[in-house]
Amino acid sequence: MRSGGWIGLVVALGVLFVAAPASAAGLLSQTVSAASAVDKSCTGAERSGAGVAQKRVIMPSAGAVTARLTAASGDWDLAVIDATSGRVVAGSAYSGSSELASGYAVKGSELVVQACRLTGSASTAKLSLDSTAIDTSHTGKVQLVRVSTPTLARKNALNRLGLDVTEHGGPGFVEVVLYGADDAKKLVANNFAYTLEVPDMSVQAREDRAADAKFAAADATSEFPSGRTSYRRLFDYSQDMKRLAREHPDLVRPITLNHTTYEGRPVEGIEIATNPNARDGRPVFLQMGVHHAREWPSGEHAIEWAYELILGYRRGDPRVRNLVTNTRTIVVPIVNPDGFNASREAGELFGNGGGHATDLDGNGTVDDPEFLLAASTHPNEYRRKNCRFPAGPAAGNCAGVDTGVVGHGVDPNRNYGAFWGGGGSSGDFFTQTYRGPEPFSEPESQNVRELVSSRQVTTLITNHTFSGLVLRPPGIAAQGTTVDEPIFKALGDSMAAENGYESQYGYQLYDTDGTTEDWSYNATGGLGFTFEIGHLGFHPPYADTIAEWNGTTSYATGGGNRAAYYKAQEHTADATKHSILAGRAPGGAILRLTKAFDMPTSQEGLTFTDHLNSTIQVPSTGIFEWHVNPSTRPLVAKSSGRPATGDPSPPEQFESRGATTPCANYDTPPPDCYEDHLITVPSGAGIDNAKATFRIEFAPVSDYDMKIYKADSAGNATGEPVAVSGHGATDGNLGFEEASVLDPVGSYVVRVQNYAGVDPWTGRVTYEGPPPAQAAQEETWTLSCETPEGTTRSARQVFVARGERRTLDLRGDCRIRR
Ligand SMILES: [Zn+2]
Repeated sequence: MRSGGWIGLVVALGVLFVAAPASAAGLLSQTVSAASAVDKSCTGAERSGAGVAQKRVIMPSAGAVTARLTAASGDWDLAVIDATSGRVVAGSAYSGSSELASGYAVKGSELVVQACRLTGSASTAKLSLDSTAIDTSHTGKVQLVRVSTPTLARKNALNRLGLDVTEHGGPGFVEVVLYGADDAKKLVANNFAYTLEVPDMSVQAREDRAADAKFAAADATSEFPSGRTSYRRLFDYSQDMKRLAREHPDLVRPITLNHTTYEGRPVEGIEIATNPNARDGRPVFLQMGVHHAREWPSGEHAIEWAYELILGYRRGDPRVRNLVTNTRTIVVPIVNPDGFNASREAGELFGNGGGHATDLDGNGTVDDPEFLLAASTHPNEYRRKNCRFPAGPAAGNCAGVDTGVVGHGVDPNRNYGAFWGGGGSSGDFFTQTYRGPEPFSEPESQNVRELVSSRQVTTLITNHTFSGLVLRPPGIAAQGTTVDEPIFKALGDSMAAENGYESQYGYQLYDTDGTTEDWSYNATGGLGFTFEIGHLGFHPPYADTIAEWNGTTSYATGGGNRAAYYKAQEHTADATKHSILAGRAPGGAILRLTKAFDMPTSQEGLTFTDHLNSTIQVPSTGIFEWHVNPSTRPLVAKSSGRPATGDPSPPEQFESRGATTPCANYDTPPPDCYEDHLITVPSGAGIDNAKATFRIEFAPVSDYDMKIYKADSAGNATGEPVAVSGHGATDGNLGFEEASVLDPVGSYVVRVQNYAGVDPWTGRVTYEGPPPAQAAQEETWTLSCETPEGTTRSARQVFVARGERRTLDLRGDCRIRR
C-alpha cells in the first residue's frame, strides 16, 4: 500500500526488535548426484527413488536456513524439509539449475536437504546449507497499548521514554507497541496509565492462518481459476509458472527479468498469447504484484489472471479466446521476491509449527520452540521494502531477524525515476518509504523499467494491498492532470465499478514520487494503474482475497478484480486507445522502434536518460501491424508555462494556535483535531502567482497532516481538498508536509490535522511565477529496419498519435538481400 500515516503500527514494529549479533554456520557444502532426471515436484514433500539426492543436517540453533544448489545444466529444484513433521521449511523451484531456498527452523530439528534433478543431462550439483541463529530467548509478547496523555507535556514525556510510539493517536492518548515487560515497567515507573488494545499481535496472525488452514481443509478447490486454497510461497509461484509453461507451450512463454535481487534471486514471469514465441506486434498488457513484501494478495491476483486466461482459452471461452489471440499478457507476480520470501516465510511459521503455541491464553508462559521462533521472526511478516542491507554497498539479507528487521531496505515503489526524490518519499534509510540512493538504484525497479522499455506495453496494472483504490497518475498534485485524463478516468472508473474501489488520482491519498506508473506512463505513454486491493489488511485470510477476486465482498459493485482485469485487458486490445504502425516490409525483417530522452526527477538539476527499444519481426507475408504507444511522451504533449505578467508575491507565514488534539481519523477528523488557516493569494497589477506552495514544519516526533481547500465567501473550507500532504516526511531534523496548487486564485483554507502532534508547527506559503512558455511538442519514434542478423538497412522518424493508425511502405528502403 502507499499510505504512511495510519500504518504507523507496522512501520514501527522493527525498531526495537534487534537481537544479538547473528552467528552464521555452514552446515553442508558438498557435491551430490542424481543418476537420472525425474520431472516431479520437489517442494511438496520428501521424495524417494530416482532423480533425488538427500542430505541430513541438525539445526544447531533456532534461526534462518539458506540452502543453495548449482548444477551445470538442466532444471533442478531444491527443498529443505523437517524430517519429523514433514513441514517444508524452505523451497526453490526456479527454471534452470541455480536454486536458493530460505526459511526458518528450530534448534535440534533434523532437516532433509533435498536436491531434485527434474530435467537435463547434468547428474551432479553443488549443494550447501547455512544457518543463521535467531535469539528466541527474549521473545516477549508484542502488545499494542493505549497510553493516556491528557496534555502536550505528557505526550512529550512519553516520547522521551524511547518506546515504540506509533502514529495511532486520538484525543488524550497515543498508542504504543510494547516488546516485553521492561517496556511496560517503563510506563508504570513514569506514572503512565494505559489499557491493552491488542494483547498479543501475533494472535491475529495465528488466527488468520488458522482460518486459512480450516478453509483449505474444507474444500479441495476454491473459486480462484487455479482452485488454490492458500497463499502461495515463493517457490509455489515458480512451480505454477513452470507448470503452466510446460502444460501450455502453445500459450505460455516463461521469462526471467534482467537483474537478480540482492539475495541472488531471479525475478520470473510468463507471457501469455497464442503463438507466444512470435516476435509480433500485438498490444501488450502487463500485470504485476508484490512490489511490497507483505502484500501477498497482490501476487495471488496477478498469477490468477494468468490462470484465468490460460484455462479460459482451453475451455473455449470466446471472450478469453479473443483476448489471448489479439493481445499479449505479461504476468510478473512477485516483483520483490527477497522481501516477499522473508515476509511469507515468517508468516508461514504461524500457519504451521508456530500455530501450536502452548500459551494461547496469553498468560506469558510459552514454551513451544516453534512458536518462539514464529514470534521472534514475526516482524519480518510486515516487511514492506526490498532486502538491501546495509544501506551502503549493494548487498542483501532479510533472513535474520537481527539485520534490522523491517527497518532496512529500499521501497521499490519510490525508486522509479520519474519525479524521484521529492516530498512523496523519504531519504532516510530506515523509513518505510526510503527511495534509495538514486533513481532506479534497485534491481526490482530496474527490472520493470527494462521490461517496459523493451516492449510496447500499452496498459499495465501494478497490484498492491490495501485500501480499496484504483489509482491513476499523477502521483504529485502539482503535475496537473495528464493529457490522457479522459481515457485514464474512463478506464479507472469502469474498473472501480467492478471491484467497488475508489477511482482517483495517485496524489489524492497524498503525494507520492518514484512510483511505477508515474514513470511508465510519462516515459512510454502506456496507461498505468495501481490497485490497492481490499480493506482488511496486508494479507487477510485467504478467503477474503478470493472474495476480492470474484466480487463477493460487501462493497464490490460488479465482478471484483477478475472483472476489472477484463476491462483493462479489453482496453489493451482497443486500438483506439493506443497507436498502430502498419504496412508492408520484407518478410523476416526486424523492425525496431527506439527513442531516448532525459526525464526529470523532483531534485533540482537531476535528470536520467531513458532508452526505449522494442522490436518485431515482419511475418513472411510481408504485412505487419504493430500496436505501439504514441510517439510523443505525455510530458511534452501538452503546452506548459506562459509569459509572466508580473512578479510572484513574497512568502507569508502562519503558525499553529496550539489547540488541537491528536486523532487517528485522517478522512473525517473531529473539529478539535485540526486548525484552519485562511490564505488569500495576492493578485492584481504587477503580480503573477502561478504556483503557491504550502508547507508546515514540526519536530520529527510529531505527525501533522495538511489539506488545502478552496475557501467559500465566508472563508470556510469547501468541497474536496485541492491538494493534500500526509506522508510524515522528514528533512534532516524537521518533519514537514508540503503541497502545491497551480494557478491559485482567490482564498484557500490550509487545514492542519493533528495526527500525533506533540509540538507546535510553523507554516508558510511561497509563490512562484510561471515556468517559461513551452508549446506542446511532437516527438517521433526512430523506426529502423534490420536484417535478422542485426544489420540496419534504414531508419526513419515516424510520428503517430494516440488512436492513430499510420501506414508505411518499407519495402523499398529496407530491402534484405539474402
Ligand atoms: Zn504497496
